[in-house]
Amino acid sequence: MQMRHISFAIATILASTAVQAAPNAFAASRAQGLIDSHPGWVNRASGDTFVQRDATVDADGSEHVRFDRLYNGLPVIGGDVVVHSKNGNLKQTSQGMMTSRRPSLAAKLSADQAITAAGVKFGTDFEGTPTANKVIYGRGASPVMAYEAVFNGTRGDQTPTEMHYIVDANSGQILEQWDGVHTANATGTAKTLMSGTVSITTNSVTAGYEMRDNSRGGNYVTNLKNKTSGSGSIFTDTDNVWGNNTTSDAATVAGDALYGVGKTWDYYLTVHGRNGIANDGRGALSRVHYGRRYVNAFWSDSLFAMSYGDGDGTSYYPLVAIDVAGHEMSHGVTSRSANLTYSGESGGLNEATSDIFGTMVEFFANSPNDTPDYMIGEKLYMSNPTGTKALRWMFKPSRDGSSPDCYVSNIGSLDVHYSSGVANHFFYLLAEGAVNPAGFSYTPSQLVCNGNTAAGGIGRDAAQKIWYRALTVYMTSSTNYAGARTASLNAARDLYGSTSAQYNGVASAWSAVSVN
Ligand SMILES: [Zn+2]
Repeated sequence: MQMRHISFAIATILASTAVQAAPNAFAASRAQGLIDSHPGWVNRASGDTFVQRDATVDADGSEHVRFDRLYNGLPVIGGDVVVHSKNGNLKQTSQGMMTSRRPSLAAKLSADQAITAAGVKFGTDFEGTPTANKVIYGRGASPVMAYEAVFNGTRGDQTPTEMHYIVDANSGQILEQWDGVHTANATGTAKTLMSGTVSITTNSVTAGYEMRDNSRGGNYVTNLKNKTSGSGSIFTDTDNVWGNNTTSDAATVAGDALYGVGKTWDYYLTVHGRNGIANDGRGALSRVHYGRRYVNAFWSDSLFAMSYGDGDGTSYYPLVAIDVAGHEMSHGVTSRSANLTYSGESGGLNEATSDIFGTMVEFFANSPNDTPDYMIGEKLYMSNPTGTKALRWMFKPSRDGSSPDCYVSNIGSLDVHYSSGVANHFFYLLAEGAVNPAGFSYTPSQLVCNGNTAAGGIGRDAAQKIWYRALTVYMTSSTNYAGARTASLNAARDLYGSTSAQYNGVASAWSAVSVN
């Protein structure tokens, strides 16, 4: 029995890899050839080389191949580019790079001096040894020679942090910074009352069963036992019945985690044809019981893992609601595709993408214990009598007191969980139109910024496909709100045509949140 399960899973992985790898490998070499023959289209400098990261091949044969850029072997921050072609003809490129000029490779600062400059920002409370490596900082009109300094640590609330600082190699100025650990402000969690009693796929082993789902890439769940580091130990059980619908049993939230990741896996595969986070059939780790009374959950790219706190036990449940699981796993999808930088406007779009797909996973799961809605984390509250408490509200982001409903030019200076509001708002209008959600009492004109109560309303199915294509095919690490409008219009044009209701809905929904 055990062998059959394992070999079935391996066969599934091999089959899907074989189907996808071959056309993508050809697409990558064709795209590389197009870069070589059209250097001006990608602002190529002599000394630039390109390394493939991802590829999408459409049913009509259109190819979209994503590359990272090196200059004389150094990574170019913001140098990523997508090459769009069909039948070997270059159609378009997507990129943040504005020039083929490159800086001198001379550096006044040493790597140690760059670490010192970044250390002024990070402070002395780092773990391990900070590193600094030379990069080209390619965002903006004039690329500059820089270092990327990386500091690891743990914040006051137990969230790990992996800060990246881009330090000008001549002036010592900090040009950009971001955190490699992408958090959700998701809070609290549920007993498996959140999803009731559900079936999960586990792995049969000699001593019984372990919480590993080989039918979905080997997604597995471990118990961190209140620690904040390590991989934890995989949950095992003798009778394959896990938890007891309450937090008195440590395995209860492990069941929630595996169920949430499984639904997210099925959502991406069924709706978008994506085989796991990295589209390679590989599952991810979920760690539960992270820290003590930790009211958050997060995705770590370097661990390829989600981690869930237990909540504070008074206001918040453990953070294992399905929209939170979908949110965290979607951070992994974003990292493997557009890789939206986690600061400024691109950071808000990164957070919004996780809220959007976390919500679409909630609709996909359609659990009778968790009625789908456009609120984030509403199930995390131990007391939520009217059902209107949430971390974020996509239809009216300003309900949190910090997120703008409508685009403002300084939005990039906000925390990424607030600058996400405008894109969340856009997506709600795109999918549903200016329609008051159940439990609230907004007039249509209160749900739009420009009085156009007929904006959007193209339905969830089209809206989620447009956002996924915009993310995986057109957005880059530097995409801002204006770029997101362009990317989603390009996606709608590809999927439905430039005279379609869906295309017009994208345009009107963006305008209704003041992105014109
Ligand atoms: Zn997040």
